[in-house]
Amino acid sequence: MTTNRGRKDVIRDRMASTGESYNVAARNLKAMKDMGATRDAMLVQRWQPAESLDVPCPCGGTCEPGETCDHCHARHRHVKRYPGSVTDVEAWADRYECMGCSSSYTLTVRLAGRPWGVAETVIQGGSAEEVVRARVFPGVVHPLLRAEAASESDRDQGIS
Ligand SMILES: [Zn+2]
Ligand SMILES: [Zn+2]
Repeated sequence: MTTNRGRKDVIRDRMASTGESYNVAARNLKAMKDMGATRDAMLVQRWQPAESLDVPCPCGGTCEPGETCDHCHARHRHVKRYPGSVTDVEAWADRYECMGCSSSYTLTVRLAGRPWGVAETVIQGGSAEEVVRARVFPGVVHPLLRAEAASESDRDQGIS
């Protein structure tokens, strides 16, 4: 995480080289950072399960080895990863499915530095209450939240 001071220096560097105003430079830098984070988040989510347990898991090896199944004694394999929280952007859920029967389970993992979105503190309505709200990066599929493009309609429906 860059410190505030470091961030300002980066913004000033960009202002000097592009001639942009502080706000424009800050906005463009943030967009670039979000794009990089978006690409990383999509890589965390988009992979195909391994055909066999002899090869490393295509998720990048950030999962636990699959457990042995109680029912059929085959092994579970890691088949899917999706955001595992609505507010903790570094929490992902890993789904494991048995290779011999229909058994499955889900584990939560924390991937530091690989968020699926951005957590923002927003002031909510009349009571001026501060709540943490996560914004899902475009292209990331969240089972409970929709990507940023849908946020306007959330507001229209009065979902808080
Ligand atoms: Zn895996
Ligand atoms: Zn099984």
